Amino acid sequence: MPGLYVHIPFCASACPYCDFAFVVGRDAHADRYRSAVITELDARAGDIEGPLDTVYFGGGTPSTVPPTQLSDIIRLAEEAVGFSDDVEITVEANPNDYEHFSALHDLGVTRLSLGIQSMHLSTLVALGRSHTPDDARRSVQTARDAGFTNLNVDAIFGGPKQTVEQWEADLQELIALEPDHVSIYGLTIEPRTPYERQRAAGTLALADEDEQAAMYDIALSLTSTAGLDQYEISNYAKPGMESRHNLACWRGDTYMGVGMSAHSYEGHARAWNVRNMNRYLERIETGESPEEGREVITDETRNLEQLMLGLRTRDGVDRAVFRVADTAYRLLSQNLIEAHGDRLRLTRSGKPLADLVSEQLARDL
Ligand code: SF4
Repeated sequence: MPGLYVHIPFCASACPYCDFAFVVGRDAHADRYRSAVITELDARAGDIEGPLDTVYFGGGTPSTVPPTQLSDIIRLAEEAVGFSDDVEITVEANPNDYEHFSALHDLGVTRLSLGIQSMHLSTLVALGRSHTPDDARRSVQTARDAGFTNLNVDAIFGGPKQTVEQWEADLQELIALEPDHVSIYGLTIEPRTPYERQRAAGTLALADEDEQAAMYDIALSLTSTAGLDQYEISNYAKPGMESRHNLACWRGDTYMGVGMSAHSYEGHARAWNVRNMNRYLERIETGESPEEGREVITDETRNLEQLMLGLRTRDGVDRAVFRVADTAYRLLSQNLIEAHGDRLRLTRSGKPLADLVSEQLARDL
């Protein structure tokens, strides 16, 4: 079944590592933006065959806008496309937006994804986050009190001046909050971000490769001990609490994205909207399509993408997709992948090298 992605770009502050499409200080445009998204969704609803299995509000920080704004979009999606009986509706949320959680639950949101990132104030400050560890604790408690039984928390390791020991303590505190799902990412420096400029100027001290590897290993151990199963390289969940939105993306299911910068995918093509907010609003308000680009997906590209995405998951990839097995045998002998029935998947030592392993296996597709 297909999914819907809705991009809500508003943020309280700009995090120096972020390369998502977001705006700061433009909350006065929230109504206008909501109207534009509704116009786009209304116009494109006929392009996707319902019912929707997942709806995902990403950003930006969707929790920062009044929940009624998301409510209008949810109702239109339900009326115009339809929802499956147990539709998963996720909202990405900043911990200090906890006052909105009860209203979000009441309007049918089933899953909150909290951008906690760290439980240490010094790390949060270094990451440019606007919340404190106390906000994080309060956000989890408020979400539970509001009735959310499906809660993700995001965590980042390898930030400025973070030691391996600090990360271990940090993740322990985060897991002690008892989330149902954790997404854990190593910090990467993206082009054209303040962090990239600071690194170029030599003023950004980050964990080196060995420290990042040790931090990743700690993540594997602590999540495993807590009963959070690693179902993808960066994602861990209690049994049955995997993100259906994530799983659908990795499987290559159809989804439609609305809002600035949103991507849509339907097996044979991928399309994306303009990234700039003014241009997005102008296009919608003048009756133009917000689509900025479109790429035809060939069988070859699709197979390659499925290999790269599938290999990152717990289930791995079907060994039948390979023309020859030479590379697979070599990687098996190097203990970077393992056989699991008809499938091949990464071993613990292969996981940190996922991109390299995919690249090598791709030669045998
Ligand atoms: S809150 Fe999220 S989307 Fe907004 S700037 Fe920070 S990382 Fe980027």
